[in-house]
Formats: sequence, structure tokens, C-alpha cells
Amino acid sequence: MKLERSIQDARPVLAIDIGGSKLLCAVVDASGHIYAKERKALDSTFGFDEVWQIILQCAEKLKSYAPKGFSCIGVAIPGLADPVNGIWLYSPFSGISNIPVASMLSEAFQTPAFIENDVNACALAERTFGRCTEIDDFLWVTVSNGIGGGVFAGGKLLRGALGSAGEIGHVKVEYDDTKAIRCGCGGYGCVEAMAAGPGIVKRYRTTCPDASALITARNIAALARNGNIHAIKIYEETGVYLGRAIAAAANIVNPSAVILGGGISNDFGLFADALESELKRQIFLQGNPSLRIDMTALGYDAALLGAAVVGYKGGKDI
Ligand SMILES: [Zn+2]
Repeated sequence: MKLERSIQDARPVLAIDIGGSKLLCAVVDASGHIYAKERKALDSTFGFDEVWQIILQCAEKLKSYAPKGFSCIGVAIPGLADPVNGIWLYSPFSGISNIPVASMLSEAFQTPAFIENDVNACALAERTFGRCTEIDDFLWVTVSNGIGGGVFAGGKLLRGALGSAGEIGHVKVEYDDTKAIRCGCGGYGCVEAMAAGPGIVKRYRTTCPDASALITARNIAALARNGNIHAIKIYEETGVYLGRAIAAAANIVNPSAVILGGGISNDFGLFADALESELKRQIFLQGNPSLRIDMTALGYDAALLGAAVVGYKGGKDI
């Protein structure tokens, strides 16, 4: 799908994906083609001033790819965002809060700027450039260091009263107090606490206390692929937890597809069977007889391309 701006403007958009551990900045056209991209590591101790300087440096490096300037700027925000007023409301990892980032960017670059929560941005990208261009009702689920969700219902992004509709990460999936891990939200047993990267590592370390203190979810996935039975079981449990959360969400929004993104999703093969069988056990099957689970078609660029869509759409029709 090619995006049309309401004003005739062939200039590209400056797309910015502010992640938890990295910032991506790119020059993107209306077809989703990325002309040039900058990637910078972000430290969780960075405040907004550091992030702002990185954005300015990246934009400076990229401006030669847009000799006539940028038609607009779109930003994917990690955490709560107010797209109407362009305010970065709150990011739990960094603590950054209440930054009028859209107006700051507009002023700095003399062009309109728009923002959106990063998971919603991923869903927008999948709808515009990915597997869901013909699908009006779908659920996007990011499984990474945290778990987040975005819902398209009737062809529109579902926002909710405060913009946090689709927050699948806090669906409770483990009720056994001896297993439930404390979540960043203060609860116990949320799918984010159990099945995101840190939860995978914690569960593995409970099973294998001698594991290296530095082991990561990616290392555990490699062990599983090499036949380590403990690692295989941890990833199967990950599938069960995700299946429970996706069933709970699907019973409410009745999507025809679920799209998985984020780093943990790259190991979908290790947990797909467990996810699908738990999903079938938990879902209202008659109402969701052919729900499809797929990985994103957009890889690590999903949020970046979503930021471009947010810019092109100018806060409208999304
Ligand atoms: Zn939670």
C-alpha cells in the first residue's frame, strides 16, 4: 500500500523509532522504502536531553538524503504517548515523562511532527506495508524485553480512553504463587513478567541455578536448538504463557490474525506448537475458528516504518 499525504508532497519523512536500548532514525518514502538509516545505542540511564542530542545528530547525518527537506516527522515512543497533543507521557524503563516532543521536533526542523506509542506504530506498519494490508481485524504482539500489544478493529487502531488499549502484557497467565514472577506493573504472573526476555532468563535460572549470570534469552534459545531439554521446556512454557494471553485478548477483540514481532519472536519455531495448542485450549473456538498466528513481515524495522506511517498520516485516520 502506498500512502498519500493530503498535501501533494513528494519529500520523504524522517522516521524515528526510540527503543528501550537503541534509537533508529531513517529517511522513508510513502511506499515504505528506507533510503538511509542511522542506529545509536541508548543507555537506560539516559534522560531526554541525551536522547534529544542523539536525534539531532542522526537527523544531521541523514539530511543529505532529503535535499528538499522532510515532508514531516513521525516518532515511535517507547511507553505511553499522547498522539493528539504530541506528548511523550511516560516510559517505565527510562523514567522520561511529559515531554512535548512533537512540538520540539516541529520547531527544530520547521516541519510537522507526530508521535505514537511504539507498539501501535508496529501495528500501523503491518497494516500499511506488512501482512495485514487486507486484514481489518488483527492483533499485533511485541515479545521482546517486555510484551506489548496493538489492536486493529474494523480497520482502525483501537486506542481506549487513555491510549493504552491492547496492553496484553499485563494479562495474568500464571496463578501459581510459587511460579508467578513479579511484573514491572506491581502485579504477579503477568505475561510480560513470565514470557518476555527477562522472564525467560529468570525461569531458566530457577531450573538451572548454575547457569551463567550473564545468560540471555537468545543464549537459552540457542541451547534449545542444540537439544538442551531444560531450555526446550522453558521455550515451550513461553508458548503456553503467550497462548493464554493471546486467547484472552482474542476472545474480546475477535481478530482474524495475530502478528508477532520483537526479538523473542525470532525464535517462534521454539514455542509455536506450545502456543498454538494452548491457544486452542483457551480460546472460544466457535467464535475464532481459523485464527492465524504469523511473524511480522517487517522484522526489526516494524516500529520505524510505523513511525513513517504516523508522520505521513499526520495524526489522522489512525
Ligand atoms: Zn504486569
